[in-house]
Amino acid sequence: MQLFAARAFDPPGDIPALRKQVRALVAAHEHRWTLEQRTNNWFTFDAEFSRAMGAAGLVGMTWPKQYGGHERHSLERYVVLEEMLALGAPVGLHWIADRQTGPLLLRYGTETQRQKYLPGMARGEIYACIGLSEPNAGSDLASVRTAARRTPEGWRVNGQKVWTSGAHHCHAALTLVRTEEGSQRHAGLSQLMIDLDTPGITIRPIVDMTGTEHFNEIFFEDVLLPLDALVGPEGDGWKQVTAELALERSGPERYLSCHALLAALIDAVGPEPDDATAQAIGRLTSELWTLRQMSMACAAKLAAGEDPNVEAALVKDLGNAFEQELPRVVQSLITDDLADHGDLARLTAWLLVASPSFSLRGGTPEVLRGIIARGLGVR
Ligand SMILES: Cc1cc2nc3c(=O)[nH]c(=O)nc-3n(C[C@H](O)[C@H](O)[C@H](O)COP(=O)(O)OP(=O)(O)OC[C@H]3O[C@@H](n4cnc5c(N)ncnc54)[C@H](O)[C@@H]3O)c2cc1C
Repeated sequence: MQLFAARAFDPPGDIPALRKQVRALVAAHEHRWTLEQRTNNWFTFDAEFSRAMGAAGLVGMTWPKQYGGHERHSLERYVVLEEMLALGAPVGLHWIADRQTGPLLLRYGTETQRQKYLPGMARGEIYACIGLSEPNAGSDLASVRTAARRTPEGWRVNGQKVWTSGAHHCHAALTLVRTEEGSQRHAGLSQLMIDLDTPGITIRPIVDMTGTEHFNEIFFEDVLLPLDALVGPEGDGWKQVTAELALERSGPERYLSCHALLAALIDAVGPEPDDATAQAIGRLTSELWTLRQMSMACAAKLAAGEDPNVEAALVKDLGNAFEQELPRVVQSLITDDLADHGDLARLTAWLLVASPSFSLRGGTPEVLRGIIARGLGVR
C-alpha cells in the first residue's frame, strides 16, 4: 500500500494574492482577540469576523453559486484555512458549517434544506454543530440511543447528546439518531437537521478544565420536527456520518490549532537564541513542516476524489502528538528571562491544561490507530 503517494498540491489561481487577502482581513479584526483565544481559535466565537469572512467570499468557497458559494477549488479553501489557523483567527462559529455540515447537505440534503441553510452559512450567519456523541456513545458511535420516531405529525425526538461544540451559539445541529425502533449497531440510524430553537430542546454548556465554555449537553424532550428534517435516506445515517468524519481529520487544524504558541516562542527568544532553544525550535519546525506536507498530500487526494482514510488518521494522530508536545517543550525552555515574558508563560500554562483534549476531539489515538492498522492489513 502506497501512503501519501505524490499528488501535487497545486491550487489554481493567484495563491499569494489569496494569502494577502486573508492576512489583511485578519489584521482588520485582530485587535479584538486575546492571546488565549488565538491559541484556541477553532473554539473562539466572533460573529463579526464570521460575517466578514462570509462577505469576503471565504466561507462556502467550494459550494455552487446557486447556494451562495463561490465555486472555488478545495485547495484554495485549504490555503485560506491554513492562513486563518496560523494567524489564530477565531473561526469557531462558521467552522463546522463550512467544513462538514454544508458539504453534507450538498451531498445528501434535499433542495429545500440546501436553500434553507446554505446561503446563510456561506454569509457566515448560520452556524451548525455536530450532534454525534452521547454519554455512552463517543468512540463507539454505533451505540447511539437518541431516538426519533416517525409519527403523522412529524419526527418525535427523545434523548441526549454531549460534548457538542458551539451548540450554545448555533442555529442547527446535524444529529445522528436511531430512527428504527429495536435496531442495533450501524443499522437503523439516520441524520436529522435539527433547528436548535425548537421547543423541547435544552442546551447546557459544560465548563472544561481551562474554564472555557465551548461544548455542551443537548437534551431532547419530546421534540417535534417536520418529516423533512431527515437528511438523506432513512437508515443511511451510519454511511453519512462516516463520510462526515473523513472531512474532519486531515486538515491543517490538526497541527496548527495552537500555532500562536510556537510563533510567540520564536518572538520571545529573538534572533539569537541559545543552542538548546535553537535546536528545540528547529525540531518543532521540521515536525510542523512534515505534518504540513502530509496534510497537503491528503488534501490533494481528497481534491482528486480519492479517500485517504488511513493517511487522514495518521495526520490526526501525529498532529495531536505534536500539539501536545509543543507546550511541554516550551515549558522546558522557559528560563527566568522568558518567564518575564508574561504572554509566553501564560500561553504555555493555558495550553498545558487545554491540550489533553486535542487527542479526544475527532477520534482518540486508539481509535485512529485501529483505522491505520486495518488500512495496512495488520488487524
Ligand atoms: C474538545 C472536544 C470537542 C468535542 N466536540 C464534539 C462535537 O462537537 N460533537 C460531538 O458529537 N462530539 C464531540 N466531542 C466528543 C469526542 O469526539 C469524543 O469525546 C470522542 O469520540 C471520545 O468519546 P468518549 O469521550 O465517549 O470516550 P470513550 O469512547 O468512552 O473512550 C474512552 C477511552 O477508551 C478508548 N477506547 C474506546 N473504544 C476503544 C476501542 N474500540 N479500542 C481501543 N480503545 C478504545 C478511547 O481511546 C479512550 O481512551 C468532543 C470532544 C472534545 C474533547
